[in-house]
Amino acid sequence: MYEQIKKIIQQKKNDIDDRTLTYFTNYFYVATIEKVIPENITLEELIDNVLYYASKIEFYNNSHRLAKKYGTDAKGFQEPKTKTIYIRQNLKESLKEIMIYHEIHHAAQTNRKNDRTGINQKGNLGRLILEAQTQYFAEIVYQRIHHVQFENKKIPSEELRMQKGGTILSSLHNYEMYDNLLSKLSILLNVSKTFFVTINYQYQKNEGLKQLKKLYKKAYKKYHLPWKFHRLLLILDHIYYTDLLAYLDNPEKQTILSGKETKKKYKIHPHKKLKCSLQEQMDNINRFDKDTFFALIKSKGNYKEFAKYIVDNTNREITKQHIESLTENLSTPQEK
Ligand SMILES: [Zn+2]
Repeated sequence: MYEQIKKIIQQKKNDIDDRTLTYFTNYFYVATIEKVIPENITLEELIDNVLYYASKIEFYNNSHRLAKKYGTDAKGFQEPKTKTIYIRQNLKESLKEIMIYHEIHHAAQTNRKNDRTGINQKGNLGRLILEAQTQYFAEIVYQRIHHVQFENKKIPSEELRMQKGGTILSSLHNYEMYDNLLSKLSILLNVSKTFFVTINYQYQKNEGLKQLKKLYKKAYKKYHLPWKFHRLLLILDHIYYTDLLAYLDNPEKQTILSGKETKKKYKIHPHKKLKCSLQEQMDNINRFDKDTFFALIKSKGNYKEFAKYIVDNTNREITKQHIESLTENLSTPQEK
């Protein structure tokens, strides 16, 4: 199957260089064996999509125009104008390869009619899920190709441009905080994380977003969740946007990183303007964690698995003790 996929790509772009061909083939091979491509989309269509946006891979250093434009923290880009995937040269070899798959994945999930990527073709909401599943799948490709398995790590939140006092449980090497939220969403919705990969290929008519909403509505009723779908996406987008301000070069970067709140309000949604700070970002994460945990415990959801991913160190410790006391009550035989 690997050779077959390679041939299809070569036939479509006969001057493709060997390195690019290998990475493209790796990506499509894993997408096929992992069965993440929706039934109504063909492999050929996706290959056409990727080749439309990118047909070569280049590495750039800190003096490159892209580093000057976006800052030196960024790891990779896909530039449609030059049809090039640019990856920062001084990253670790494994991360470089992962970021190549990340950019190929973006291209595969981009709508050629409007250049918009992923589940939400009409607005911003959904960006965190879009990026999280992109990185998640890019690391799956790497793991399958190299026959390795990445284990969960406990990362102190302050190492991830976040407020202190939290721990991020994730096996990824980039976007770990988004991945942590994606893990919790998959527990809440009772789907595997590849579900989020599949729905992001279904950008036509916002089909993927509709599927997600339908599933969320089920969980909303089952667990009596406190926020409607739209509200949840808004919370996630605020978390995402704060991280973006702390990451790419922009006038607010230092404001955010120094722990202050932005003076400006950001229009992250047509009817909502919000200020951003690391504290608010953490408050949103904690709100999501707490509300979901209690909803799951009340309605007998998978609260035990969920609790492992709670970010705030104090809250995670409290829930752990709470779970232990519940288990003890159940297992201690009555004495008298
Ligand atoms: Zn990305």
